[in-house]
Amino acid sequence: MGGLEQQSVLIVDDDRVSRTMLAELLNPDTRVVLAKDGASALQRIHDDASICLVLLDVGMPGMSGYEVLQKLNSSPPAQDVRVIFISGATEERDEEKGLLLGAVDYVFKPIRPAIVKVRIQNHLRLIAQRKALERLAGHDALTGIANRRSFDEALVLGCQTAVRRQEPVSLAMIDIDFFKQYNDHYGHPAGDEALRRVAQVVASFARRPYDLAARYGGEEFALLLPVVPDMNDLLDRLCLDVVAQAIPHAGSKVAPVVSISVGAVQLRPGATHTPQGMLEHADALLYQAKQQGRNRAVWGPYPVSD
Ligand SMILES: [Mg+2]
Repeated sequence: MGGLEQQSVLIVDDDRVSRTMLAELLNPDTRVVLAKDGASALQRIHDDASICLVLLDVGMPGMSGYEVLQKLNSSPPAQDVRVIFISGATEERDEEKGLLLGAVDYVFKPIRPAIVKVRIQNHLRLIAQRKALERLAGHDALTGIANRRSFDEALVLGCQTAVRRQEPVSLAMIDIDFFKQYNDHYGHPAGDEALRRVAQVVASFARRPYDLAARYGGEEFALLLPVVPDMNDLLDRLCLDVVAQAIPHAGSKVAPVVSISVGAVQLRPGATHTPQGMLEHADALLYQAKQQGRNRAVWGPYPVSD
């Protein structure tokens, strides 16, 4: 995932001239993605989390713009998406219908380029402001556990505290095995539910006051655990508890159910370090866990040698 800051606008119109005109309006300030029908638009939105605004033609063969928004409402993508209808139908009740479905705006064709451009920019600004507020709140909207920003802050503080007290601190990076295949097989709503359930398991390992469980991005979670007596035991239980959820996963090559791979580092008491270095080393060990066959944890001291 990543790229929280990036905003993309998806333009959906069966008419190539309209698509091109709208795209030229937004380029080069905004990243633009194009689709020429409803089905490919829905696919794009689910595949590209940077899409936050959709300019949606109402009159399209096959699936109408209204139907596209109805489908988005019934099966929401991971990210927040706002819709602006672009329509040749100038009846007041068409506009009312579009707005009642949840569109943030309704624009009539033929469009007035300068006005439409300003409207789009206003909506992009509102979306960016809402995202900034969510980050400040510190929580991941989907799973309810801490978000990456909170975790990064806690990691800096946790390391400082550990160094001052000459105590160890552990960091675990956790990744759901074959999650892309899970989404492909079961669909994104089921994928979101799996993320929530794994998040609950990860959070159950952060019980003490200075422990922290976070969704680090996409299907990746992180745990910060000061002073763990037995890392082997803890990481084994973490992997087993996820498997014990028994969430069927037909697309996994390592287990019939959802499993995780973990890379963890334990900061040696008194060692010099950077939070960034710890994260990178944990990621390298996570990679090793995947290389060794997934559904397992690999951990080690950090730095590797003093
Ligand atoms: Mg059309």
